[in-house]
Amino acid sequence: MQPVNRVSIQFSSIPANVAFARVAAGSFASQLDFTINDLEEIKVAVSEAVTNAIVHGYGTDAGKIIEMAAEIAGDVLTITVEDMGRGIDNLASALQPAFSTDPERMGLGFSFMQSFSDSFDIQSEPGKGTRVSMTRICKKGVTPRQGH
Ligand code: ATP
Ligand code: MG
Repeated sequence: MQPVNRVSIQFSSIPANVAFARVAAGSFASQLDFTINDLEEIKVAVSEAVTNAIVHGYGTDAGKIIEMAAEIAGDVLTITVEDMGRGIDNLASALQPAFSTDPERMGLGFSFMQSFSDSFDIQSEPGKGTRVSMTRICKKGVTPRQGH
C-alpha cells in the first residue's frame, strides 16, 4: 500500500475561493481512479462545505481563514473543511434537508455533502467554529496514478 498522502491549504473566506477549493480538491482526488462523475460529486460536496464556512461561519467576513485538508490512505479519500466562525447552535436541525437559517437559501448543502460521501462527520461549537469531514472510497481501488 502507498504511504498516506496529505495536503492542507488555508485560504481567505472570499467567494472566489470556492472555485479554488473545488479545483484543488478535485485535483488531489484524481490521484485515485475516481470516475468523472465521482470527481464532480466530490467537488460539489467541497463547494457546499466551503460556501457554508464563508456564508454562515463567517457571515461573509472576507478577512477570515478557512482550512481545507485532504488525505488519501489506500483507496479512501478524506476531505475536511474547517472554519473558526460562528458555529451551529442546533446541529440536528441544521442537518435536516431543506433547513436553513437564511430564507433565501434552499438548505440543501448538508444533504449534498452527505449523499456524496461514504461517511460524513461534523463537529461544531457555537462561538468556536465548524469542522466537516467527508470520506469517499474509490470503488475501483486501483493503484494511484502517477503525476505528470
Ligand atoms: P444551501 O446550502 O442550500 O445554500 P444552507 O447553506 O442554508 O442552504 P446547509 O448547507 O444544509 O443549507 O446548512 C444548513 C444550516 O446550517 C445553514 O442555514 C446554517 O444555519 C448552518 N450552517 C451550515 N454550515 C455552517 C457553518 N460552517 N457555520 C455556521 N453555521 C452553519
Ligand atoms: Mg449551504
